[in-house]
Amino acid sequence: MKMTANTIIRPKRIAVLGSTGSIGTQTLDIIAAYPHLFKAQVLVAGSNAALLVGQCMRHRPALAVIADESKYREVSEALVPLGIEVASGPAAIADAMSRSDVDTVLTATVGYSGLEPTIRAIRAGKDIALANKETLVVAGELVTRMLDSSTSRVLPVDSEHSAIYQCLVGEDTSTVAKLIITASGGPFRTYSREALEKVTVEDALRHPNWNMGAKITIDSATMLNKAFEIIEARWLFGISPERIEAVVHPQSIIHSMVQFADGAVKAQLGLPDMHLPIRYALGDANRLVTTEPHMTISDYASLTFERPDVSRFPCLNFAYRALGSGGTTACVINAANEVAVAAFLKGRIGFLDIYPLIERTLDKMPFVSRPDYEDYVATNEQARAYAGELIEMQTTKTY
Ligand code: NDP
Ligand code: MG
Repeated sequence: MKMTANTIIRPKRIAVLGSTGSIGTQTLDIIAAYPHLFKAQVLVAGSNAALLVGQCMRHRPALAVIADESKYREVSEALVPLGIEVASGPAAIADAMSRSDVDTVLTATVGYSGLEPTIRAIRAGKDIALANKETLVVAGELVTRMLDSSTSRVLPVDSEHSAIYQCLVGEDTSTVAKLIITASGGPFRTYSREALEKVTVEDALRHPNWNMGAKITIDSATMLNKAFEIIEARWLFGISPERIEAVVHPQSIIHSMVQFADGAVKAQLGLPDMHLPIRYALGDANRLVTTEPHMTISDYASLTFERPDVSRFPCLNFAYRALGSGGTTACVINAANEVAVAAFLKGRIGFLDIYPLIERTLDKMPFVSRPDYEDYVATNEQARAYAGELIEMQTTKTY
C-alpha cells in the first residue's frame, strides 16, 4: 500500500457507496462537519429510497444512485426537480465510480456487491477509502495487483486496519515483526458450546461495543469478521499470514497493534466509534480537529487480552485456510457466508449452522488457483447457489 499524507487544498469530492448504512451515515456526518474539506458528490444506496432522498436534500450531490431499480421512480421524482441526476441498477453504480467529478470513493456497501465498483474506481485512478472488507477478502490478489499499476491509493476505514496504518506512519515496513489485530470477542465471547446452540438472532445482533450493520454484526459473533480482517490486513499491508494474529480484547479500546523487529509494540487507542477512522481516511491520514468526545484513559481501570478460542469460534481458522490455499478459496467462504448469514437473520438456520455450511460449500466448489475477475464472478455465483441448496435441503430436513 502507498502511504502518503497529502495536504488538502480544496473540498474533496466523495462518492459514498452505501450512504444509507452504518458507515455511510457516519461518513455523511464527517462530510457535514468539514464542508471546506469534503463534498458529497455521489450518493449510492441499496434500497432505502426515503433515506437516500433525505440525504440528497441535505447534501445536494450531483448524482444519486439506487441499486434497487424498482425504487428509481420514487427517487427521481423527488430529486430530479432539485437538479440532482438519478440513476439505478448495478451498472449505473459501477459507471458512477469513474466520473471525472469524483476524487475519492468511500466503499461502504456490504458484501460482494463492493467488488465491481471498487475495481472500476481503481481503473479510473480514484482514491479509495475502504470500508467494504469483502472486496479484499474475495479478490485481494487481483485488487492488489491492480492497485500496484494504478495511481489509486487505499486508506483503510476498518478500525483495526486504520490503527495498523497509524502505527506504521514513519516506520520502515521491513522492520514489522507482527500485526496484532484486536477482536472484541463479540456477544458470545464467554458462551459455552451448549449455550451457543440456543442463541437467537436478537442475541447475535446485540454487539457489546460496536453499533454496526446486521451482516458484520453476525460476522463478529461468529468471529468470521476477524478472519476477514486477517485476510484484509494481508493484502493491505503485504504481511505474510503467519505474522498476523488476532487477540481478544473485550474493551475495544486498543484498535490494533504492530510489533517491530526490536520487540517494541505500537498501538492505537480510542473509543469504539467509527467516526475517527472514517475521518482519518477521508482526511488523507491528516489529524482533523474534532469536537466529538475524546477518550479519557483513566476511565479504563484495565485493558485485558485473551487468546481466541477456535474450538468455539472455528470460523477464525478460515483466514489461514484461505490465505494458505489462495485462489478462489476466500471468495467461496465469503459467498457461502453471505447466504448463511442471510438465512440465519431470517430465522431459517441456527447460529451453529453457519460454520458447517461454509465448510461444506468449500469442500464442494472447484478451486481456481490464479483467478481473473470472471473467475471470481463465476465462483461467487456457484458458491451462493450451492450454499442456498444446502439450506433448502436442511430446512426441508433432507440434509
Ligand atoms: P450496512 O448494512 O449498515 O449498510 C450497507 C449499505 O450498503 C447500505 O447503504 C445499503 O443500502 C447498501 N447496499 C446494500 N446492498 C447494496 C447493493 N447491492 N448495491 C449498493 N448498495 C448496497 O453495513 P455497514 O455500514 O455496517 O457495513 C458496510 C461495510 O463496511 C461492510 O463491508 C462492513 O464489513 C464494513 N465495515 C463496517 C463497520 C461498521 O462499524 N459498520 C466497521 C468496519 C467495516 P440500503 O440501506 O439502502 O439497502
Ligand atoms: Mg473491524
